[in-house]
Amino acid sequence: MLGPDGKLPLPWLEAPLAQALANARSHALLVQGPAGVGQFDMALLLAQSWLCEAPAAGKLACGRCAACHLFLAHAHPDFMVLLPEALRESLGYGADDEEGGAEAKTGKASKAKPSREIKIDAVRQMLGFAQVTAARGRAKVVVVYPAEALNTVAANALLKTLEEPAGMLRFALASSAPEALLPTIRSRCQPVPLGLPPQELAQAWLAEQGVEAAEVLLAATGGRPQEALAWYADGVRAQAWLELPRRVARGESAALSDWPVPRAIAALQRLTHDLLRGSHGAPPSYFPPTALPKPRGAAGLHAWGRALQDAARHAEHPLNAGLLMESLVAQGQRAMRVAA
Ligand SMILES: [Zn+2]
Repeated sequence: MLGPDGKLPLPWLEAPLAQALANARSHALLVQGPAGVGQFDMALLLAQSWLCEAPAAGKLACGRCAACHLFLAHAHPDFMVLLPEALRESLGYGADDEEGGAEAKTGKASKAKPSREIKIDAVRQMLGFAQVTAARGRAKVVVVYPAEALNTVAANALLKTLEEPAGMLRFALASSAPEALLPTIRSRCQPVPLGLPPQELAQAWLAEQGVEAAEVLLAATGGRPQEALAWYADGVRAQAWLELPRRVARGESAALSDWPVPRAIAALQRLTHDLLRGSHGAPPSYFPPTALPKPRGAAGLHAWGRALQDAARHAEHPLNAGLLMESLVAQGQRAMRVAA
């Protein structure tokens, strides 16, 4: 969102946002690209710009008008966001928000595990919202994130409105897995590609967020700054990342003991990926070449990769995280002994 200082929260969104605002021909845009580069922020900025009552040159939100103030306070009456319950809090749209809706309330009451899906209840509520005249007369905007979280029933319910939106209604959907959307949803949206940001912008932003040795974590996450920030917040440090390949080669599962299991498994998968590339003479993607032991063959690495893939599927609920990591690291040690 764009505040009164006129500064974008993610500087690399400036060019794609200007382009999207200038080229929007459809009432429904689909921001798509890799995760961790600001898709949700981009959808919000589109929404804020469409609702802004004093847009700057290039149709960009001003950050200061009454509409922008309401938007920044999550109180704009012509704006609605559809999120899975599991994401509401972390994205700043907690269950206490007015738009929290039926889903959030039932989730709170039943103390059920927050859903990762966008359900029919939320879409029904949106359909009600869509029918009311715009309170501020500018536009009505619905953001859907991540769009692939719409379950089939919810997606089908959304479809009709997406096809024939009432007068001022506009949509900004965002997805890192557009191929997982119903083709009928995809075909009704104008795609807005959002790729990896320029490295220097991403690094400067990470440094501004207090991430040390930002270039290491940025490379570790494949150039996705929001993911790098999340890793940092989870306690992953550059030094630990650089030491990881050799510690795994020595069988030290303690190298990963401070990391949440899904992150630890993702880290090992990236290590396997880089070692396999090395065995084919290709440069690594996630680690600097100097951090990697010299591979002599791919034997064992493929099997290790498959074991990691299996583990990743159950990473959210491992039966015994310590044992799991020990066994995965031991397997990696064997694979690297053969390979290195
Ligand atoms: Zn404004």
